[in-house]
Amino acid sequence: MSPAGGRGTADDPYDVIGLGFGPSNIALAIAAQEIAPDRSCLFLERSPDTRWHEGMLIDGARMQISFLKDLVSLRNLASPFTFLQYEKAKGRLEKFVNLAEFRPTRLEFQDYLRWVAAQFSGVVRYRTAVREVTPVRDDDGALSLFRVTAADTASGEIVEYHARNLVHALGGVPRVPETVTTGPTVVHSSAFLSTIPKTFTDHERDWEFVVAGDGQSAGEIAYYLLDRYRNAGVHLVLPGYSLRATDNNPFANEQFFEANADDFQARDEANRRDYAGSLRTTNYGVVEEGFLDELYRLVYADEVRGRTRFVVHDGSRLTRAEDDGAGVRIGVDSRFGRGSSELRADGLVLATGYRRELDPAMYGDVLPYLRTDAAGRPVVSREHRVCTTGELACGLYVQGFAEATHGLGDTLLSLLPFRSKQIITAIAKDGGSLARTFSPAQDDTATLLELIERCGSGTLVSAGPGEFPSATRLPLVLDRGRGRHGVLFGQLDRADPRLAALTGGKVLAVFRPDVTRAGTPASIDVRGGLRLVTDQDRCPGGAVGLEIEIEALSADRTESERQS
Ligand SMILES: Cc1cc2nc3c(=O)[nH]c(=O)nc-3n(C[C@H](O)[C@H](O)[C@H](O)COP(=O)(O)OP(=O)(O)OC[C@H]3O[C@@H](n4cnc5c(N)ncnc54)[C@H](O)[C@@H]3O)c2cc1C
Repeated sequence: MSPAGGRGTADDPYDVIGLGFGPSNIALAIAAQEIAPDRSCLFLERSPDTRWHEGMLIDGARMQISFLKDLVSLRNLASPFTFLQYEKAKGRLEKFVNLAEFRPTRLEFQDYLRWVAAQFSGVVRYRTAVREVTPVRDDDGALSLFRVTAADTASGEIVEYHARNLVHALGGVPRVPETVTTGPTVVHSSAFLSTIPKTFTDHERDWEFVVAGDGQSAGEIAYYLLDRYRNAGVHLVLPGYSLRATDNNPFANEQFFEANADDFQARDEANRRDYAGSLRTTNYGVVEEGFLDELYRLVYADEVRGRTRFVVHDGSRLTRAEDDGAGVRIGVDSRFGRGSSELRADGLVLATGYRRELDPAMYGDVLPYLRTDAAGRPVVSREHRVCTTGELACGLYVQGFAEATHGLGDTLLSLLPFRSKQIITAIAKDGGSLARTFSPAQDDTATLLELIERCGSGTLVSAGPGEFPSATRLPLVLDRGRGRHGVLFGQLDRADPRLAALTGGKVLAVFRPDVTRAGTPASIDVRGGLRLVTDQDRCPGGAVGLEIEIEALSADRTESERQS
């Protein structure tokens, strides 16, 4: 991946600009480095550094998925950016294993995100809030570029960048009813920790809090308030009959597999709605079962002391809220025929979730070119590219904005390794330097890589440090998930004299597929950079690994093909 410095004008645009640098685009940065390192990328992030749902980073709160579903492991276990690499780098690997914990705290996951993000600091502009995205016409009149206008959050200075492709990953916008005005006593969960402890500093007072919502955040906030404010009352306003447990059963969880996301997309619209509706309790309006038990124990301990501090208002919908100076007045409608009522409280927390849409103020000039479905949502391809009219030639990709067509995993972490690969591969195929290296008219890269995979072994030629080139026939395994076009891996004995001759850096690997098959090239030449690997896990028993990052591929066609 090229560093960010100095480019971004209309004459020298980036291949990719990522809007936002949360988990989705951090995963994209990894994929870009590992799959298409020649892409020029820039990421714009409004925060001063990496922060992950900071307002809800409650002490001890845990991830809802396994650490193995980090930003990259499920795509590339050998990546230097896995959660386990992070633990190793922090010197905690053995202690982490000793914990026997699959779900780290959210605080630790944020630290992992920061550790990865720091390794991409050269391609990120922090304190840069995206304001507007505009398509730009080139000399031929085609809309082939995007201009991104952003503001420095510290100085207010406006900056502009251009790119052939944008990857929008700005996350959701807190869902706050229009009839509610937020402030120091009325907050959305996204601002919970930054506001409530500052407003309610006296932990002994008998505050009255109302929490609206029925999901994990509502449960965690209710617990926090009951636990930290030992004399406070907490009223939970929720639409259903009671809090419900997350459906964590492994069969239901398979919907978050890569293959199932593809399968979901292939269904028709009615079937998708039905499918997502029946599995909604894997993520929405539910609280982790173990956590519900903890909350119940806390509430029960109060009952033993002869007091009730937790009141559930079931079948209830919050209609309005305002702080009149003497406290917060909260309108509540009953869904079960108990009419309307008013609750009075000292503080209100809205655990009402997030809206996800392309902001019309940001995308006003782009929206007319986007194809939309009957509900007015942008139509998004399998590769996460927003479908556009033919006039808009530049690529707009979205992460987390296609739940209706891509399934419930779309807003979550599980699919990030796969999604980022799909996006970066699509961008690499579409244009820019990869297309320049591999002219589509000449050879089909994917076909050549498949043939290499089938060959298994190739002849390795290296000028090496010596006078004559060295050539050695060696089994080479192709890992297509790494590097721009793939990485070849082979092994030699540590004492093998050819090793010295192969350490010259650049090598040529020649593969000879089965030329009796029609359309098969007589030989495939692969040029690449060679690296020696001594990692014990990959090279046991005194072997040394040779890793060749593929830089260029060319094919020598059979005689009959050349003539035809
Ligand atoms: C409290 C909480 C806990 C969660 N826990 C889990 C979990 O355990 N497992 C799971 O799978 N999912 C979880 N989720 C779901 C969550 O959506 C994903 O974990 C993840 O955050 C999605 O990443 P993202 O990068 O798409 O969006 P976000 O994490 O929302 O990141 C968006 C980024 O864009 C930046 N941004 C926004 N607007 C602008 C702008 N105008 N200009 C520049 N930058 C901007 C933001 O600062 C942010 O850094 C949780 C969600 C919440 C709210």
